Amino acid sequence: MAQKASSKYDPTFAKEVFEKVDSGEEIKKCMQCGVCAASCPLADKMEFSPRKIFTMIRAGERQKVLASKDIMLCTSCYTCIVRCPRKVPVMEVMHGLAHHALRSGFVPRKESSKFGKAFWDCIYKTGRVDEGVAARNYYLADGLVAGAKRGLEMKDIALNMLKHKRMNIMSAIPGIQGKKIKNIATLQKMLDKAEAMGKGGSK
Ligand code: SF4
Ligand code: SF4
Repeated sequence: MAQKASSKYDPTFAKEVFEKVDSGEEIKKCMQCGVCAASCPLADKMEFSPRKIFTMIRAGERQKVLASKDIMLCTSCYTCIVRCPRKVPVMEVMHGLAHHALRSGFVPRKESSKFGKAFWDCIYKTGRVDEGVAARNYYLADGLVAGAKRGLEMKDIALNMLKHKRMNIMSAIPGIQGKKIKNIATLQKMLDKAEAMGKGGSK
């Protein structure tokens, strides 16, 4: 029983977050006032609010934090950053935790992870996001049949985007990439560097 309880808590986790997560050390400034949790527009979708996540980090609940879908729900609205009385960059910590979870082999939210990869690949290969290419690659992440099924489910949105010239019909063809920006090699070098620093990537 005692062994089970000890495996649930990792006393080194807070140190790991302070050292390896972007802005992770800023959590030390948190005074648990709950303003971020009360302000976050996604609070009702979260099992653990940012305030609670910070408490769990201090308590060493590594598995629970890194496997939580909540760390991948942040939409970067900045509300928490503007309102936090201690100027904790909550949003950056949440994104940092999501990256750290993926690097550590956790996939808290499979769909976010797949979409992130499709988005990154698009930027890496062409230097811009082509909505059609990113959506196509996202849908095809689980294979052709699953991709075709999901594409059909989303056909009304796709048709609307085509109608309003927000998407190119050619983007739907597997293998087709959007138009590359000039000096794509320079951008790729920067992205390679960012990925090596653990600040992006296609995982
Ligand atoms: S608003 Fe700031 S100080 Fe208050 S709980 Fe959130 S992070 Fe901590
Ligand atoms: S930036 Fe993220 S965590 Fe902060 S309030 Fe917005 S959605 Fe919530």
